[in-house]
Amino acid sequence: MRRTLKRCPGCGAKNTARPAHKVCDNCTDAIRKWSEHLATANAIREHSTVKLKGAYHWYPMFYFGGPHARIDGFDAVRTELAQLFEEAGTRACVEIFDWKDTPFEQRENSQDLYARPDVRHPKKKGEAYGERAEYPTSEGGPSYHDQYGKIDARMLELLRLLWDRTARFAEMSYIGGLQDGRNLLLQLSSGQLSTGDLDKQDLRIARKRQNAAFLQRKLAQPQGSTRMPLPEKP
Ligand SMILES: [Zn+2]
Repeated sequence: MRRTLKRCPGCGAKNTARPAHKVCDNCTDAIRKWSEHLATANAIREHSTVKLKGAYHWYPMFYFGGPHARIDGFDAVRTELAQLFEEAGTRACVEIFDWKDTPFEQRENSQDLYARPDVRHPKKKGEAYGERAEYPTSEGGPSYHDQYGKIDARMLELLRLLWDRTARFAEMSYIGGLQDGRNLLLQLSSGQLSTGDLDKQDLRIARKRQNAAFLQRKLAQPQGSTRMPLPEKP
């Protein structure tokens, strides 16, 4: 067997003679341990496999039927919320593997972290499926993924519930606001509400908007300042 003193192509060590066609003993050991670890981690049945970010990634976005009125900080809050959900989902993963460390079958059966539920209205006569119910988020779209996360199935369920309820709560609050506005118009047209009353309402709404924008300015997370790097592979 030909031996060499050239640097090991794995770790760069030069001090031990190794068979010319192999990496050094330390590297051989590391590869074996990693393979064993992968086999164990990929066999845990309580863990779901989820797609994680690759070259580009879609965040689950909120509230696409949202207001036309310009509210300071609205877009920033919406974007940040989506990013926070994405980050929480990634951090909730027990392990994150490159695609090549995830068995083909598990990649095929992997899920998006957040997927828009497919809710349908009752089907009508002659229809195979009822119409799709409107949902207050965008599709957590298909994209290129080169990492896969292992996540506890209950944790995944909790994150999805949080995401779902947040989206629907925001939508309901918005619909409530629309309803309030509509009632105001009705009261004005029926004379129940004077223009003076309307001015007072106007002032109240302006104050609320200012307060919301102020909170956003004070509480917005500067990108990257408080976020810790994701855990490295062992
Ligand atoms: Zn080596």
